[in-house]
Amino acid sequence: MVLQERISTAHPQERVELAAAYRLIAEFGMDDSIFTHISAKAPKSEGDHAFLINPYGLRFDEVTAGNLAVIDINGDILNDPYGAGINKAGFTIHSAIHAARPDVACVLHTHTVAGVAVASMKEGLLPLNQWSAPFFNRLAYHDYEGIALNLEERARIVADLGDKSAMILRNHGLLTCGRSVGEAFRAMMDLERACRAQIAVMSSRQTPNQLSDELAEHTARQEEGWAEQHQAAGKPDAEWTAYLRLCKKRHPDFDQ
Ligand SMILES: [Zn+2]
Repeated sequence: MVLQERISTAHPQERVELAAAYRLIAEFGMDDSIFTHISAKAPKSEGDHAFLINPYGLRFDEVTAGNLAVIDINGDILNDPYGAGINKAGFTIHSAIHAARPDVACVLHTHTVAGVAVASMKEGLLPLNQWSAPFFNRLAYHDYEGIALNLEERARIVADLGDKSAMILRNHGLLTCGRSVGEAFRAMMDLERACRAQIAVMSSRQTPNQLSDELAEHTARQEEGWAEQHQAAGKPDAEWTAYLRLCKKRHPDFDQ
């Protein structure tokens, strides 16, 4: 694969792919200065039950494969190549999910205008199109409890997420989980675009042509079936690979 030859192999794949996710979230204008996080399981060589996260104070477009910090499940630092520490409070949602869901390799959280806007609507996400239908009956909601995240709220976040892979944090933002960084990223792109489209429709003053429950469910199952077949066949994630090529083109130093 041409891409693999061009991307540095000086760092483990986990670091390279997580750094790419940070750069791509910035590339698509979905970052919130130095806030929100994307966390991923660290390679075994960097610790048992260890996680990678962005160094505190860096913009997403400054994150590289080599400057990601390694932390344990409590957010305590195991390795900090950049030396700026991490935002431990910001890791609390992530740590709760990583602890409760060993199937999840990556947790991606955003505060975007579209995501926060839909998170601020009582209706939540509506099944209006092919971006939103895959989330039909598959999107969790967690009620806002203020900024402080205590241990009790962590338990409620985990309970609200259940076995789902995407969640609207009401009045706050969006969250996706994946068995890989690419899976979490692609889900976030779809959820973000679903939110943008919903706002566009609701702002148009035209009547939303909402999908029936049956059609939304049918579409969601089609998406799931395609994804599972693709994975079972051992095929590379073509869309994520395409995003990685974009990342290398626009952010040539991300894998350093
Ligand atoms: Zn947040």
